[in-house]
Amino acid sequence: MKVTEIVFLSTCRVRLVVEIADPAPYTTHGKARIPRRLFKMFPRMAFQRCGNEDGYSFRREAQNTEIPHVFEHLLLEIQGQVRRGAGGPLAGETQWNWTVDPRGRFYVTVDYDNEIVALGAIRLAERVINALDSKDIARVDMPREIARLRELARLSRRCHPRPQTSRLHSLSSPLGHAEPAGSF
Ligand SMILES: [Zn+2]
Repeated sequence: MKVTEIVFLSTCRVRLVVEIADPAPYTTHGKARIPRRLFKMFPRMAFQRCGNEDGYSFRREAQNTEIPHVFEHLLLEIQGQVRRGAGGPLAGETQWNWTVDPRGRFYVTVDYDNEIVALGAIRLAERVINALDSKDIARVDMPREIARLRELARLSRRCHPRPQTSRLHSLSSPLGHAEPAGSF
């Protein structure tokens, strides 16, 4: 999985193009290790809201879903850990349309409140997703990575969106998500 394009929108959302090279599998189906390791590393992710078509919890959905969808939830989780409950909940969505685009292309859009942190979170989430299925995941020191992002957050400016009432539900997507409510 590779993030091939990053566009910061003026609404404190970032839109990513994510590509999975054909013929690599693009779902977690048959790759039970991915969700198992993911929820072990990030237990809170099991409780994230997930607006999938079947009404599954994210824990259930992650057993058989598109890998960029897991990446989207991970981006929300990493940013949530950096913010430590500050600010409103962040949301995201994953879309694709292979009747128009090449097979394996996805669009992941997530809220952010700090551009520098978002960029770091994107690269970290990409690394984690690509390592989850391999032994390389042991080399990712998450507490250290999160501490580094928190330091970046402290040193840089936050994004302040203009109020937009229709933003979160304006795109029809089968997969709309949000962090769990509340702080941690
Ligand atoms: Zn979801």
